[in-house]
Amino acid sequence: MLTASPGAAPAFPPVLDDVVTPAVLIDLPRMRARVDGMAKRASDAGVGLRPHAKTHKCTQVAREQLEAGAVGLTVATLAEAEVFALAGCRDVFVAFPVWPSAGNIAPLLRLHDQIELRVGVDSAEGADALAQVSRGGSPLRVMLEVDCGQHRSGVAAEAVHHLARHCLALGLDVRGVFTHPGHAYVSPDAVAAAARDEQRCLRVGSDSLRRLLDVPVEVSGGSTPTAALRPFGAMTEVRPGTYVFGDAQQIRLGTVTAADVALAVAARVVSRPRPGQAVLDAGSKCLSSDRPSWMNSFGVLPGWPDATVTSLTEQHAVVHGLDPDVRVGDVVAIYPNHVCTAVNLAPELLVLSEGRIVDAWTVDAKDRPSKRAHVSSA
Ligand code: PLP
Repeated sequence: MLTASPGAAPAFPPVLDDVVTPAVLIDLPRMRARVDGMAKRASDAGVGLRPHAKTHKCTQVAREQLEAGAVGLTVATLAEAEVFALAGCRDVFVAFPVWPSAGNIAPLLRLHDQIELRVGVDSAEGADALAQVSRGGSPLRVMLEVDCGQHRSGVAAEAVHHLARHCLALGLDVRGVFTHPGHAYVSPDAVAAAARDEQRCLRVGSDSLRRLLDVPVEVSGGSTPTAALRPFGAMTEVRPGTYVFGDAQQIRLGTVTAADVALAVAARVVSRPRPGQAVLDAGSKCLSSDRPSWMNSFGVLPGWPDATVTSLTEQHAVVHGLDPDVRVGDVVAIYPNHVCTAVNLAPELLVLSEGRIVDAWTVDAKDRPSKRAHVSSA
């Protein structure tokens, strides 16, 4: 069985120790509770839930979210959009400043024709390129990206008017504004201020767009930390992604407790080379190397709250603070710091229910169906 500290509550359900490690496990009842909880939070607030599917890249997980009431999905790439559209999702928002490079144009236009596809835009150049590829056909539906403080992509809220006029002059179908308050992740103290920035920028941006269009507009915000703080302000839809599983970073940010995290890596102790140190068989190629500056560990071991993953190499995790009774050959559970990057490294997710593996779900949105479309056939 998965090992846990004698005093600690079993914070991740046990699994038979003959699992081939490292393995990524989902606790299905916990995941369903998380899916339903966020769906209820959004519906109670009267906003649509459009989960970001880059967290799981898995059509089975997406299906659970849509069946629980999600209005559609958010993705980061056209490749992800293609996979989820093929799996039956009719409403997808690519929340990214999409550039229609040669290999992307055909899937972009196909998706635009077949489903309710919206894409992000945050520059005149991007808008020009999108307008160019859809010339003569029905105009692409775009969402204008606002930077609310992360200072990644997006224009200032006060510049929405200017960008919107440019897009409209090109004939693009401007549907609304969106933002991602990624600066909520700067530290556990930053979440509340980031949520205020998110609401202010969406209000300013959407007000100016509404004045220009004189029709209702989409107002799309979201991250897991800010969605944990209600209300949603001017938002018409919210796009959390990480909430579906939770992870070590979310525990530290206070958006989830260790007993509610729905995904763990099962790793085996392969060496106890010196007192106080253990080595596990899950390195950066499984957990990913993500570690925010305010965390001192590359993951949380739910059964061993005092253990710290002090370093990772590709296949090894070095752990300090694991009980001496945990022996070589034992299996422990680790919550990755950032579940999205860990899932992106996994071929499949083993699905646990009542302590048994009941299914294995492929992380199937990693590859695009038309990935070889740009290779000319000789
Ligand atoms: N929307 C966009 C544009 C994002 O980049 C992300 C995450 O990176 C999200 C939504 C989801 O946020 P979270 O990972 O906090 O759930």
